[in-house]
Amino acid sequence: MGAITLTKHYDSEQLQHDLRKLNKVYDFIKVQTIGYSVLGEPLLELVMGEGEKRVHWNGAFHANEWITTPLLLKVVEEYAEGIIHGRQLEMELFSSTRLSVVPMVNPDGVNLFMHGSEIAKGFKELVNRANHNHVNFTSWKANIRGVDLNNQFPAHWEVEKKRKPQEPNFRDYPGESSLSEPEAKALFDLTQNSNFDRVLAFHSQGEVIYWGYQNQEPSQAESVVGAFKAVSGYEPVHTIDSYAGYKDWFIQDYKREGYTVEVGKGINPLPWSTFYNHLKKVKSICFKSLDL
Ligand SMILES: [Zn+2]
Repeated sequence: MGAITLTKHYDSEQLQHDLRKLNKVYDFIKVQTIGYSVLGEPLLELVMGEGEKRVHWNGAFHANEWITTPLLLKVVEEYAEGIIHGRQLEMELFSSTRLSVVPMVNPDGVNLFMHGSEIAKGFKELVNRANHNHVNFTSWKANIRGVDLNNQFPAHWEVEKKRKPQEPNFRDYPGESSLSEPEAKALFDLTQNSNFDRVLAFHSQGEVIYWGYQNQEPSQAESVVGAFKAVSGYEPVHTIDSYAGYKDWFIQDYKREGYTVEVGKGINPLPWSTFYNHLKKVKSICFKSLDL
């Protein structure tokens, strides 16, 4: 029996439950709160490893890409099992790296996707308008205020502000100012305080990995993303016409490696039945990100 509950109803309550369980079964996994969402849900970070190299993974920046949350947790669980069983690779990774994971950056958005506008409290009217009055929220990516959290970071935010939606929307609205949303600000603060050497943001879909930003990425990024491709088949893409994302800001400010990994192929939300098809590839990228 695994500690992770594999369910297509993976909301923030399920995440809290599973993180408590992970921490109980594997006492070397620490869980801490790095902030709170607009609706007061805890933003949770899991930490493990005793090494120098600092690697960060995050998932569910976008609500309808929530499958990235249980995927990352399952990878963590398999990593932890390896340590319990004394497997060499996992033992080596544990002693050489310190891993930080924020599995669900956008818990309010995920809850909205799962349960509808009933959970939106004072934002019910806003989310219905931002969702163009569709009954279900299957296309919803934003947080509960209709702000796209991956359009919030101070990396040419003004460019997106000009050309993206001008009001709260189910996707793409960059907000009134950069880092206006507590979820983006929490990730920003965590990153500023954590001295990460390498960050991977997991989204869906496309089976591609974005690895550059305005040629400010370090030179090793190209060979590392090549290694990701070798183990997963995911295609490296240097840059696209996009700004203000988490990895954009990370590369710009730190000149270190930042990757956006687009999991799976199809239409968001990826069907739950495809979970195990993605797990192997995601795990291979995750392990490589610790190993290299
Ligand atoms: Zn996304």
